Amino acid sequence: MDVSHLLDELNDAQREAVTGDAGHLLVLAGAGSGKTRVLVHRIAWLIQVHHVSPMGLLAVTFTNKAAGEMRARVGELLGIRPEGLWIGTFHGICHRMLRMHADEVGLPDTFQILDSDDQYRLIRRVIRDMELDEGQFPARAMQGLINHHKDEGRRPENIEHLDNPHAAQQVAIYRYYQDYCERSGLVDFAELLLRTVELLRDNPARRRHYQERFGHTLIDEFQDTNRLQYALVRLLSGEQGRMFVVGDDDQSIYGWRGARVENVSDFVRDFDPQVVRLEQNYRSTATILEAANRVIDHNDDRMGKNLWTEGEAGEPIRLFAAWSAEEEADYIIARIQDWIGQGGSPSEAAILYRSNAQSRLFEQVLLREGIDYRVYGGQRFFERAEIKDAMAYLRLLHNRNDDPAFERVINVPARGIGERTVERVREQARSRKISLFAAASELIAAQGLPARAGKAIESFIEKINMLDEQTANASLGDTMSAVVRAAQLGEWYRGREAPDRAETREENLEELVRAAESFEQPAEDEQAGLAPLASFLAQAALEAGEHQGQSWQDCVQLMTLHSAKGLEFPLVFMAGLEEGLFPHQKSVEEPGRLSEERRLCYVGMTRAMQRLYISFAESRYLHGQRILSRPSRFVDELPAHLIEQVRPRQPAAATQTGLGARPDSSADHGLRLGGTVGHQRFGIGTVVSLEGQGDNARVQVNFEQAGSKWLVLAYASLERLD
Ligand code: ATP
Ligand code: MG
Repeated sequence: MDVSHLLDELNDAQREAVTGDAGHLLVLAGAGSGKTRVLVHRIAWLIQVHHVSPMGLLAVTFTNKAAGEMRARVGELLGIRPEGLWIGTFHGICHRMLRMHADEVGLPDTFQILDSDDQYRLIRRVIRDMELDEGQFPARAMQGLINHHKDEGRRPENIEHLDNPHAAQQVAIYRYYQDYCERSGLVDFAELLLRTVELLRDNPARRRHYQERFGHTLIDEFQDTNRLQYALVRLLSGEQGRMFVVGDDDQSIYGWRGARVENVSDFVRDFDPQVVRLEQNYRSTATILEAANRVIDHNDDRMGKNLWTEGEAGEPIRLFAAWSAEEEADYIIARIQDWIGQGGSPSEAAILYRSNAQSRLFEQVLLREGIDYRVYGGQRFFERAEIKDAMAYLRLLHNRNDDPAFERVINVPARGIGERTVERVREQARSRKISLFAAASELIAAQGLPARAGKAIESFIEKINMLDEQTANASLGDTMSAVVRAAQLGEWYRGREAPDRAETREENLEELVRAAESFEQPAEDEQAGLAPLASFLAQAALEAGEHQGQSWQDCVQLMTLHSAKGLEFPLVFMAGLEEGLFPHQKSVEEPGRLSEERRLCYVGMTRAMQRLYISFAESRYLHGQRILSRPSRFVDELPAHLIEQVRPRQPAAATQTGLGARPDSSADHGLRLGGTVGHQRFGIGTVVSLEGQGDNARVQVNFEQAGSKWLVLAYASLERLD
């Protein structure tokens, strides 16, 4: 058999990794050096040359999108779609295992995944149920804490709080929440992993089964695995399984979410792998690569590696200093228009930013200019209110015990069920330890509710039961369509929102029906005996973060730097390189975090293949204030000889770019260095620096509470207090 195509287009080091015979292998290499390519070729190599059954391979990547691409690439290399091959994210793979062994881990067959918004609402409800002070136990913080415990493999009974009453109360919240989830058949993201780890740890037969099945485990982006994921990998591979791990310590960007770059050195210690280093970058021009290398050089906590390229120097990196964030957006979209004008395609262009909120300005300009675009992350399809409403109905059909779904739609659309009535149902559910749906049914049977409210609840319960009967044999698409019709969500939104918003919501609901109609159940789910409805619900929860729309259209790509990991684009814009925004304010205050931000900068720069633009705005609206910002320290770290400064437009020109009318400000602002000023939001502070005149006048104030800020005088409405 000719397998040369599996090794063509690989350099020596890559070939060594793909064909390696050592027990375990670690590919540790920088961005764009072909790590993902090597992993894909390795899978094909094992199947074709070593005749490993696709069933015996487990491949883990970071996003569902990457998993899809990986599957397609393997299929291409082999000329067939390998059946039975498990490629997925950690969450996806754990979900599949739990579905197959639901009863062994004590979950109902109908268990539901709680996405993080549902989780937050449920925790808030728990805190209220327990009659605790939400100021002392904020739901957001509790959510973080609970997930952190789970990521570290800790159940409430494993947590020592000794005699700290506050900590003891937190554990009590965790326990209450967990009991609630158990009763309702709900599983949050962290629980997917923890349950699977417990299954494999505590059930020797299962463990042996999987260890015998998966002779090979392959993991991409290993630097961003957390403790639990590593534990899972160790359990799965056992004594015999062979590990193929690729990663780059310089691209570890999820430390804030519990990822441990130390897993790389732990892996070396635990598995004693052959280590292959790839040093040739195939993605970027020499200029882009050198600049990225120089920036990451400022981190002193690196494992250290060399990256070089045979590629041309290419164009210099363009650095654009915008007067305002609006001007920055105009500039970037104009450059995308140039690109398209020169024959480039919109999907080759990516705009990367630090935080989701930044996408709005770009979207505005793209809409104005009639350029198609897609935002990854941000308001995701499955997280929109109307979609979550419709899905809640679907979830109730599937699992009556799904309390968050019940809470969500009991009065959506409004059917005259007040908070008092719902509270009555909650009480009943609490005291009888049953679901809200069951409690509501009980109360109705016992006529334990006021007549009007009782009627309303009864008709809701009947609606769900009837829908269930009607759709018992219907396809998923027909079920979805019946749900959307019966729930009358479109009408409900039309009655309470502006026509264009309501229309968008109705379109989204139609899109949801289409998504259900065209849903193809993964073969593995079908083999696992999963109903299409259950598969669809799970996929919606797991992929909420990634998908928007269906197909890969030719449109400009907008995403956060975090979600750009692993991807590449000919034309990249990194926007908003300003102190406080990127690096993010929070990370400036913590030293370890700053190097993570710098790695994020490195990830961003190394996405670019041909052309890279970096920009910052001198002023932008933040929290309702126009704030002056300084360029990010990362801008200073770019080597000057690789940069071409695009001359900033004169401030006068900014007026035309949508900055709007600005209030007059007198040259004599009456402020003096050392003077005391008051600000509506930031409180009282001392003037430490003054610059510019008229509309350009800016002031640096050291606020007692809020710290040091640069403000534009024309907008800041400072009050002189001296
Ligand atoms: P990242 O760290 O960003 O995930 P990576 O190390 O996974 O990057 P890949 O995405 O696998 O890198 O490869 C980067 C680019 O280089 C891809 O376009 C890939 O097809 C190309 N490439 C990799 N190796 C070779 C090679 N030997 N010959 C030609 N092109 C290559
Ligand atoms: Mg990769």
